[in-house]
Amino acid sequence: MANRKKMQELYSKVCVAGSIKFVVSEEREEEERDLEVDERFSCNLATILARDHEVVAVRLKLFSDKCVVYISKNERWEKEDTEYIKKIKEYLKSISGNAPIPLDTAFKRNDVKVLFKTVKRYCLAKFETRLEKLKKDIVGESQNQHILFFKEFANINDVIEVRGYKISGICSRYYKTVKDKPEIPKKFLRHLKKVGSYYSALVDITACACNVKYKNQFSNMDVVTLKPVSINRQPIFSWANIIQKFVHVTKEYEKFKKRCLDDDDTLKKLKEVYKTDTNGNPQLDSEKIEQRLCLHAEMNILTNIIDSKDKKPTLIAVSKYCCYLCELYIKFANTKGYNIFTSGAHNKLYHKWVLPDTKDVTLKNDALKYMIADLDRIIRKELREKHIDIRARSDSEGESADSDNAKHIDHSEVDDLMEDSDN
Ligand SMILES: [Zn+2]
Repeated sequence: MANRKKMQELYSKVCVAGSIKFVVSEEREEEERDLEVDERFSCNLATILARDHEVVAVRLKLFSDKCVVYISKNERWEKEDTEYIKKIKEYLKSISGNAPIPLDTAFKRNDVKVLFKTVKRYCLAKFETRLEKLKKDIVGESQNQHILFFKEFANINDVIEVRGYKISGICSRYYKTVKDKPEIPKKFLRHLKKVGSYYSALVDITACACNVKYKNQFSNMDVVTLKPVSINRQPIFSWANIIQKFVHVTKEYEKFKKRCLDDDDTLKKLKEVYKTDTNGNPQLDSEKIEQRLCLHAEMNILTNIIDSKDKKPTLIAVSKYCCYLCELYIKFANTKGYNIFTSGAHNKLYHKWVLPDTKDVTLKNDALKYMIADLDRIIRKELREKHIDIRARSDSEGESADSDNAKHIDHSEVDDLMEDSDN
């Protein structure tokens, strides 16, 4: 089958590009777009549905009398996840069924309290990882002006004493006051935002459910969890085979290979992608390598959108920034009349990426050509430039710590809810 060979070519080129050019283009300035209420709801759901290292993608589809939430993740769904999602759905339906509810009274309601508690328990591991990163900033740059200001704002004397979700609300509020200040390091802002995202997500989700405007939709909420897709044993052509399709002179090929092996970062990537032989060298000539690939969460949602031919503007909210290939595929889909955007993208190229298997075969073949053409461009460019290392930015963002609803509420009450029995 010609198509099978073409697929093998795609995945082989993904492996090559991912090993010699893990970060595809220059770091971009973070752009923050104002999201609509329902879009922010999707982003907030993505935040509270990501348990640990997994990536979760969410799409909210609103009808006049109901809403459907599509959720996918990279890994398979565990029983704990399914039960959690079911609970979240029930709490939201219950709150929304009683809308309109003034926000200040909402935080006294039992269902809201249980919602907070359930989310905090489920997200604890991820929250703690994020908090540790923030604490490292505070300790590592303790004498810097931005840290001193934050410590004063948060009333922190000793960073060791900072524990529990209460800091989430503080970070969310502080982030709002400093996010546009150019003198604050981007990394610190990112960590503030991530720690603050739980507070802002919970406040925003509650506000949405309390809003009578969405009562018809949220009190009739359906949740569709998409089945994860993976390819267990995808054969790939050797690294040498692919590179030699571009470099025809053996001496030139050897020169490039040496350059890659002499570069520590590239060598590490080559070993990761192609595994090592008995001497510990990456197997660049092996034609027997197979990869385990998985469909990224946002591509799973996108496949669903394409299969239903839904060309309305749609946000796919993701708990991390999209990778380079997902972003590229979205660009492709948008050339076919779709109108998809995400909550942000970075430039890393992951070699275990899977092409969406759309029902529309013509579209799939076009996608295949489009992706291969771009990978050819990346490989060719890298060959011409010889290896240039460009650092990537972190990929674990894409959430909002910037809750507008937080303006109109009594912070101390929400803080109590955030603090109340943290696990
Ligand atoms: Zn991706």
